Amino acid sequence: MPALDSVLQQKLQLLEAKHAKRALQPVTREGGVLVQSGEKPLVSFSCNDYLGLSHHPKVIKAAANALKTYGAGAGASRLVTGNHPLYAQLETRLAEMKGTQAACVFGSGYLANLGTIPALVGAGDLIIMDKFSHACMLDAARLSGATVMRFAHNNLEHCRMLLEANRADHQNCLILTETVFSMDGDRAPIPALAKLAEEFDGWLMTDSAHDLFSPTTLHPSPSTISMGTLSKAIGSYGGYVCGSYTLVEYLKTSARSLIYSTALPPTSVAASIAALEIITSSPELCEAPLENARYFTTRLGMETAQSAIVPVILGDNEKALAASAILKEKGFLVTAIRPPTVPQHTARLRFAFSAAHTKAQIDAVAAIVKGLLHA
Ligand SMILES: *Cc1c(COP(=O)(O)O)cnc(C)c1O
Repeated sequence: MPALDSVLQQKLQLLEAKHAKRALQPVTREGGVLVQSGEKPLVSFSCNDYLGLSHHPKVIKAAANALKTYGAGAGASRLVTGNHPLYAQLETRLAEMKGTQAACVFGSGYLANLGTIPALVGAGDLIIMDKFSHACMLDAARLSGATVMRFAHNNLEHCRMLLEANRADHQNCLILTETVFSMDGDRAPIPALAKLAEEFDGWLMTDSAHDLFSPTTLHPSPSTISMGTLSKAIGSYGGYVCGSYTLVEYLKTSARSLIYSTALPPTSVAASIAALEIITSSPELCEAPLENARYFTTRLGMETAQSAIVPVILGDNEKALAASAILKEKGFLVTAIRPPTVPQHTARLRFAFSAAHTKAQIDAVAAIVKGLLHA
């Protein structure tokens, strides 16, 4: 066997022994929350298409029209010839909805973080981030060359301690957190973090990938840097950063993941615009996933859900995988989430609730989970 393969085989065997190896499963989604995994139709609680917009007829129509008119691909980076006029429409709409002066759309949420954070801070600067922040914020922080420190999850005192001890030794300071945490479903204390940023002459950047564009979850401070994705509740693909005119002007000339990567296909941009129109004209749609999540936590006697995401923490990898397999057998897709995505010994089932789930589906899955927890 070539040396490369034998080294990789060893690494794979180690992962397998820890039940930490990941593998791709073919899945097709045909609208609503029904998916097809292999031969088996399943009700999914593992999609981030919270509002069911990826299959909304108006979204599909907008994407199909853009496809027929403008073709399948953008052809170049936005800085070269890929900046289709649809981009300006989408950015205006995003800024309006987030209450900021401007917005910048990127190829994905990952690329938005990867481009923005190193554009804002570098060697000699300080990043202080919540320990549970998404992997792509951590990757971006490391890439930036700034000093990176992490505070205990949602722990304002710890964040303040790190600022007190380190802020003075650095030029610029960026605080990073998520508004809704992707694997725990809880919310960050954004107003308190914004205050800390102000007090220590720093900037706050929030990742709202799992926020649902509901008026109650929008940003309190126009001076924060607000990042998000078009790939989840918006049902399409892409990422964005909202903030001041100056911030956006600067990102468009500095963010490397924007400059050196091909623009999104016009289909994705058109789909996002249509999805944002639907949200604006039916704001009640954004409340439904949280209502469904709360229905589930009530059924199980758990703490009331704070967002559309509800973790059921089981501990061992093996236990989480076994629970996921039982649910699959009974017709439900609930993917097990394991370290390093979540901390050691907190492997879990992660439920993502959609506006498209019915009470009967939630009742059925809750009954199985109850059985699993009391087994
Ligand atoms: C999914 C996710 C991203 C990445 O967004 P994509 O558009 O999928 O690349 C970034 N941050 C958080 C918190 C996420 O959950």
